[in-house]
Amino acid sequence: MPFRAHSYEQTVIFGEDHRSAVAQALEGRHGFIVTTPGHKLVAEALAAELGQGTICAMARMHTPVAVTEEALAKLTSSGAEQIVAIGGGSAIGLGKALALRTGLEQIVVPTTYAGSEMTPVLGQTENGRKTTLRDERVRSGTVIYDVGLTLTLPPDISAASGMNGLAHAVEALYAPNRVPLSMLAAQRAIHLFGASLPAIARDPADRAARERALEAAYLAGFALGQTTMGLHHKLAHVLGGMLDLPHAQTHAALLPHVARFNAASLVAVLGSDPGGAIAAIGAAAGAPTSLRALGMAESDIERVIPEALGAGYANPRSVSEQDLRALLRAAWAGSPT
Ligand code: NAD
Repeated sequence: MPFRAHSYEQTVIFGEDHRSAVAQALEGRHGFIVTTPGHKLVAEALAAELGQGTICAMARMHTPVAVTEEALAKLTSSGAEQIVAIGGGSAIGLGKALALRTGLEQIVVPTTYAGSEMTPVLGQTENGRKTTLRDERVRSGTVIYDVGLTLTLPPDISAASGMNGLAHAVEALYAPNRVPLSMLAAQRAIHLFGASLPAIARDPADRAARERALEAAYLAGFALGQTTMGLHHKLAHVLGGMLDLPHAQTHAALLPHVARFNAASLVAVLGSDPGGAIAAIGAAAGAPTSLRALGMAESDIERVIPEALGAGYANPRSVSEQDLRALLRAAWAGSPT
């Protein structure tokens, strides 16, 4: 297979205490510490250890532009020289949105398995519409993984964000611009998520399983950061944007059905029944298994189809209106794949 591979300058630190690693990466520069309201204490503990930093605990799901603008004003008046994002994809999204607007470097400390820290992708919401951009200015310069921070991640968010990470790895396997390294990372991520997400559901304090899931998140994010997204991410994006469904949970409910549709491109890694293999991981992890359970109305299926068909994306199999209807009906009902 011919390929063109690109390398990106990025430092990834795995398995160290995040406070000392952030202190070292900051080199004395004033940090603007971005997080979600629920994670404010973690940001405060980090600032206390650093002995400096401006805390901005305003991050929200889907990165609303109005929140970014408020945070930007705070950043400008703080005189901060570096962005530090600590939290899940929402905190990282706000950090990326600020980096895009200021050109400041980012240190990112992820605490879920969504994988955003490794991608140059930013989704933003304005006037009820979510748009996604890909820009090297939002790729993090330093990523610090500290498994200790993930022990508090509730089981439902662990499962859903893990399935979100798994979706990156699955789509990276058949992305038209896949390269040998992204394939290897995706395969290893699928293996690690498959083993760790059910173990975390059984025992959320299982540190070894948490470590495997965090490594999987890194590898899945890396794979997505090297490749373009397909049908699955496009559908999750359309459903999230149009119906305001929760991001990671939507990924979890959709993924078995997309894996079933794109099965021919996945059998080499996932075995003879890719949809069943993904559904089994999701079920054992305790992730949502239907869009109906997330609050989607059956009548929304017809509203979503034209938007999803009109959106441009690469997929290994062409997708007809009937295909999409059958896929969405199955994902809505949560019927077995
Ligand atoms: P999240 O960041 O919204 O976090 C969910 C909740 O969990 C929040 O209340 C947060 O405070 C809490 N939380 C996070 N880590 C915790 C921990 N360790 N312990 C206790 N509580 C914790 O959820 P997410 O699924 O990580 O991120 C979703 C967002 O990320 C969406 O906006 C999505 O669009 C974006 N995303 C972007 C990319 C990308 O590459 N651009 C990839 C994946 C997701």
